[in-house]
Amino acid sequence: MILVVNCGSSTIKYQLFSQDVETVAAKGTVAKIGESGSTLEHQAGDQKITIEQEIPSHGVGFELIIDALLDDEHGAISDIHDITAVGHRAVHGADVFVESTIIDEDVIKNLEACVPLAPLHNPANLTGIRQAQELLPDVPHVAVFDTAFHQTMPPQAYTYALPYDLCHEHKIRRYGFHGTSFRYVSRRTAELLNRPVTELKSVICHLGNGASLAAVDGGKSVDTSMGLATFCGVMMGTRSGDFDPAIVFHLHDQVNFSLEEIDRMIFKESGLLGVSGLSNDMRTIETQAGEGHERSQLALDLFAYMIKKYIGAYAAAMGGINTLVFTAGIGENSPIVRQKVCEGLGFLGITIDDTANDQAIRGKEGVISNPDASVTVLVVPTNEEKMIALDTAELAGLK
Ligand code: AMP
Repeated sequence: MILVVNCGSSTIKYQLFSQDVETVAAKGTVAKIGESGSTLEHQAGDQKITIEQEIPSHGVGFELIIDALLDDEHGAISDIHDITAVGHRAVHGADVFVESTIIDEDVIKNLEACVPLAPLHNPANLTGIRQAQELLPDVPHVAVFDTAFHQTMPPQAYTYALPYDLCHEHKIRRYGFHGTSFRYVSRRTAELLNRPVTELKSVICHLGNGASLAAVDGGKSVDTSMGLATFCGVMMGTRSGDFDPAIVFHLHDQVNFSLEEIDRMIFKESGLLGVSGLSNDMRTIETQAGEGHERSQLALDLFAYMIKKYIGAYAAAMGGINTLVFTAGIGENSPIVRQKVCEGLGFLGITIDDTANDQAIRGKEGVISNPDASVTVLVVPTNEEKMIALDTAELAGLK
């Protein structure tokens, strides 16, 4: 069986897949590691348990996960050796990792070198890898990078028009994220349409609490809206997306904001939350907009408008578009957002069928465009864990 883990600074999410990656035998989350109120929520089949206890480190979190997986009542394996490989979500692989890789000492060193590019995420990923390797030393561990899928972007898409040598020296460029999701959705779209991925010119909209778009031409990423870090592009739950960098200097010089305050503002106090003043959750924004809350309406309109502009830009970048795909929490569940994004894009061949759009919710996949539209619009639920498990199975020689 293949264990997939995703370590954040205070969380470990996990899923245990069957060897053929067709079923999930168990899954769960360790939350609030090193904080008060830490928990393990674990589910295997219809057995669900929550353990509340002090979890001071990721190491203790992993021990609890293994205990839960081995438990007679709510477990999923009878022997730790039933776990034959571990797949790790790794956030930032810079330009070093262009694909998933078996983890060895060199990979760890290279991941450490990428820490300055992802100071919050990569240390947590590294801790997770080390702790999981200690508990499961005899099986292959595989790293699957959020950035890797976008390494096919051409220089004109990933270069910032800043002094070239400076950027080169400090590895400043567009990297892009959500790559594992884009790769899964791109493959699944081709499968659903029964067409070779090489024929598809797709814009994929990954719209969750974090959101980004990718232009995927023939299965390869040619541009994406996030950059060096995870805040540019379209607005998100609490992140701003694109704005004029002059605002940073203005806030610093004229309004006496510190860089830390600006950083917090851009990451945690902007986006849907910042514009609406109410919530980072699209469900609340939609409800409040429907009840006449003007700033929620503005947040909704702005969100759709920013996405719409990227779709136009990416259609131009690829010299056309034949598939538009929505995924992640908002993309999979919000007919309103999908309708607003597609409204007015008839000139590109994008028109949607209202009934199909309304029905594509809660994990349903399918086509929502009008039958005569030249662009096929789809909803394809993402599954990053499955993509990680598939890569892990392949690299570990299990498939
Ligand atoms: P994710 O980060 O992919 O898990 O997406 C989480 C976001 O999806 C939440 O913050 C919500 O804004 C959004 N979401 C989930 N369900 C719905 C829904 N039924 N309608 C609109 N937005 C939703």
